[in-house]
Amino acid sequence: MNFDYEYFASLNLVKSLENSASETPNSQPIYALISVHGDPTAEIGREGAGGQNVYVRELGLALAKRGCQVDMFTRREHPNQEEIVELAPGCRTIRLNAGPAEFITRNDLFEYLPEFVEAWLNFQKRTGRSYALIHTNYWLSAWVGLELKSRLGLPQVHTYHSIGAVKYGNMENPPQITAIRNCVERAILEQADYVISTSPQEAEDLRQLISQHGRIKVIPCGINTEHFGSVSKEVARQQLGIASDSQIILYVGRFDPRKGVEILVRACANLLSGFQLYLVGGSREDGADFQEQLRIQALVKELGLEAVTVFTGRISQALLPAYYAAGDICVVPSYYEPFGLVAIEAMAAGTPVIASNVGGLQHTVVHGETGLLVPPRDSTALAIAIHSVLQNPTLKQSYGNAAQNWVQSRFSTQGVAAQVHELYQSLTLDTFVQEIIRTKKLTPDLEKQIQTLLKSKA
Ligand code: UDP
Repeated sequence: MNFDYEYFASLNLVKSLENSASETPNSQPIYALISVHGDPTAEIGREGAGGQNVYVRELGLALAKRGCQVDMFTRREHPNQEEIVELAPGCRTIRLNAGPAEFITRNDLFEYLPEFVEAWLNFQKRTGRSYALIHTNYWLSAWVGLELKSRLGLPQVHTYHSIGAVKYGNMENPPQITAIRNCVERAILEQADYVISTSPQEAEDLRQLISQHGRIKVIPCGINTEHFGSVSKEVARQQLGIASDSQIILYVGRFDPRKGVEILVRACANLLSGFQLYLVGGSREDGADFQEQLRIQALVKELGLEAVTVFTGRISQALLPAYYAAGDICVVPSYYEPFGLVAIEAMAAGTPVIASNVGGLQHTVVHGETGLLVPPRDSTALAIAIHSVLQNPTLKQSYGNAAQNWVQSRFSTQGVAAQVHELYQSLTLDTFVQEIIRTKKLTPDLEKQIQTLLKSKA
């Protein structure tokens, strides 16, 4: 066989394989998203349920809209929870039994992971589902995925959501589980078929702190921009009973010390009067987040801000657009933030964001265009930034407009899901062709051509 013949033969083979994969309904690949501790159908905004839950759910829904079949696996946290919840045609949440059916903090979940793997394998066997790829989320699911990959040879994509070496890098007494977490976080980078980093900063952290090996692709988180941009400021304020001339400083998120709510409260104590501080988010009374909320409430009292501060508690995703739109500015004062969905949700509503100059926030908030970036842990710098935007309505309006356009063009779920889907397809095609090469016993030359072609597609 001459070179050209081989080249075209391999091209045709790959093309026909691609066609046969997409034409036959029964061969439509099924993707498994695994999020052991982040149930995509959980109430968001309270302890343990935040950006990861939203990421997995929105990605699953968007992939299903593209015609994919997606099963999102998580751990059952309550005996009354249904095993299978269909969120949309082609997109389901599946709750597996692993450990007691109750809330368990992430740091205590590791011992139940082997049970989760067995439950996953049983589910697959019982239902006859054959998964084309697994996409794991957070290091706990990474461990599960590596186990499944070694047993079934499935391609694996991983999203970190948080990196132990960054989160606990300077901490004197990190949680006991950190050593194991660090090992898993290194193994997953080196062994997964691809790691998705949600920001260039995260990709840099992975290279500097975790490993030089492994393939990384930067694909940001996406949000439903239409949903978050669906309410006007006037309507939102009417709906929430906020006067049209009030100045609203907004925080949305969990009460976790690393979110830096304390810095925001201290910054507000430095501002002149005439504003209201809305702290949106909440937690169970028995959770660790609740302790932080009590600490913040005590600080608000100590600094004499009680009369101007509103603790709304957890707000549903359905109602959040009104809060974002009602805010004059949204502040994200985190000490560390791998991505920070809240920043893009607020911008989608046309609200400028003032955020710490850390992690993913450095890439989602454009300093001087969609809001401002300030050094973390610096309440004076934050107060100056808040004041500069609040006292200049023209600037506030121009930041808000730019923010909305920026998020629509970069961070819509459909655009982000298209990139993820393309990555999945390149990996499943790879596996599919490997199988053909193995079973059809192709000539070594043709096999080499196909391998080269696949590499150029990856
Ligand atoms: N959130 C919510 N209700 C609340 C507070 C927060 O639904 O009362 C959601 C918010 O819309 C966002 C998520 O919780 O989608 C927080 O994600 P982010 O990435 O900002 O932080 P994480 O919690 O992952 O650290």
